[in-house]
Amino acid sequence: MMHVPLLDLRAQYATIRTEIRDAIDRVCESQRFILGPEVQALEEEVAAFCGVRFAVGVSSGTDALLAALMALDIGPGDEVITTPYSFFATAGVIARVGACPVFVDIDPQTFNLDSHALEARVTSRTKAIMPVHLFGRCAEMGPILAVAEQHGLAVIEDAAQAIGARTLAGRQAGSIGRMGCFSFFPSKNLGAFGDGGMVITNDEQLAEKLRILRVHGSKPQYHYQMIGGNFRLDAIQAAVLRVKLPYLPAWTAARRQNAQRYRQLFTEMNARAPVTLPEDTPGHIYNQFVVRCPDRDRLREFLGERGGQTEVYYPIPLHRQPCFASLGHEQGAFPQAEAAATETLALPIYPELTAAQQRYVVEQIAVFYQS
Ligand SMILES: *Cc1c(COP(=O)(O)O)cnc(C)c1O
Repeated sequence: MMHVPLLDLRAQYATIRTEIRDAIDRVCESQRFILGPEVQALEEEVAAFCGVRFAVGVSSGTDALLAALMALDIGPGDEVITTPYSFFATAGVIARVGACPVFVDIDPQTFNLDSHALEARVTSRTKAIMPVHLFGRCAEMGPILAVAEQHGLAVIEDAAQAIGARTLAGRQAGSIGRMGCFSFFPSKNLGAFGDGGMVITNDEQLAEKLRILRVHGSKPQYHYQMIGGNFRLDAIQAAVLRVKLPYLPAWTAARRQNAQRYRQLFTEMNARAPVTLPEDTPGHIYNQFVVRCPDRDRLREFLGERGGQTEVYYPIPLHRQPCFASLGHEQGAFPQAEAAATETLALPIYPELTAAQQRYVVEQIAVFYQS
């Protein structure tokens, strides 16, 4: 039996251990732990990487989204349109500022918000659209921007899973809307050694407001112009991320190569028939390699018993979460999101995954469907 973890962060760490330790050491010697030069340097490096003017380091991807909504003064009485098939934070932050999350069903091929269903959900209360580039594949930004422009709405990209991804037109995830939000949670493609996040924008005033919001709304110190939060990024996290950022393109290339290898292996082993693989789109960075498969839960158990770790992203769509019961969405409200929740399975795709491990996973899937 072979052991194939969903993600092996130790394998990545082994390749950069010395550099990381030196970077952390630098922060230890400086004893400057909150914001400061490491964070500022990372902000400049991420802004350059994404081709935008400003980047503001924050405490997590969730806080990046929250601060972005706060920077636009979105609150009670406002609506924000988003997808029901995402990590909880996407809708959670909308509710936390007192606004109402308005869901649009997903495109079953891409798992992203169905941009053609979007316009029908716009009302006089709509303030923003929050598309998610799910699993590292960009949402269809052309039609989303067109609807936003038509109705005077802001677009906040939840690019938590998509740093380095590109649209079909070649635009960088996060750089397309008014603001783009990244997460540096360890399992994201650019992961810190703890929590971290960033908001990127080309809007100087928004960047300034985000910098004030992340320190409780104070400017100058102890003078509060607005009510913000403690949304600061730690210097140690920034130092770690600065080591990792230059490797990101190579890690992305390895993920894309692994995706390609899965396609070959599924074809080779005749395991393809029951399983739908993600379409190969240029610019997809495969934070997750998510297949659609019949009898998903039994397959997952079968693989687990044979050493193949998988995960379900996400088993319950956001509109069916108990905390959003007051929104009144019955089962069947967003059928594509609900179908995805019961049919999708994430297979290991991390850069250091070996060809032998991938072959083993696909072999076991073939065995499952043959028996
Ligand atoms: C990870 C993630 C977030 C939240 O990021 P954290 O850094 O964990 O707070 C938000 N949205 C999506 C789509 C995510 O995958």
